[in-house]
Amino acid sequence: MMSIQLLYSRQVPRTINCDPAMLTRSANAVTNDEILAILSKVKSKHPVGNAVLDAQIALDVYAALELRGEIISNLKSNGIDEDIATALANVSVIEVCDSPACSRCKGTGLFMRAGEGLIECSKCHGVGSFVPSGRELHRLVISYLPESKRMSRDTFKRKWYDIYMGAVDTLHTEAGEAAAYAKDILRKIENENEYREVG
Ligand SMILES: [Zn+2]
Repeated sequence: MMSIQLLYSRQVPRTINCDPAMLTRSANAVTNDEILAILSKVKSKHPVGNAVLDAQIALDVYAALELRGEIISNLKSNGIDEDIATALANVSVIEVCDSPACSRCKGTGLFMRAGEGLIECSKCHGVGSFVPSGRELHRLVISYLPESKRMSRDTFKRKWYDIYMGAVDTLHTEAGEAAAYAKDILRKIENENEYREVG
């Protein structure tokens, strides 16, 4: 089956150009029109998750901005100060959408340990992408705050860490739901195409 990575990168022309092998159609291959139709369905059903996948895979900066705006308004509606909401939103979008693959597991979330086989990567806790340490996270958040609102690492940990992680988890969850929905549609189309080809 076509992967979600490929589905989302197929809408970026440079990706298509750089790999002609991808254009070779196999019997049940999904056409570009079908890809666009799938993406628009995912977008209308899971707008936030779709934006996360767009930002993560297609490196869509507008999608990242949209997510940032979404998080800021959520946090503000929970009574959080605008500057702090903005800083938390900036960093959570960076962590979820821009973060490079984890250096230990190369993005797989799994790590081979002698005698134990594949285990959950201890560096990223199975997430697969770079997860900032408490110190890095605090430094990053306060870099987006005006001096008067910068808090100590301790205060950040006590008062803001859970709220920050809530935003990160929401983005991951939404992306997971959008990807699962996209896979469902892809599977259906690929099965239909195969049937058509055989019949
Ligand atoms: Zn890892």
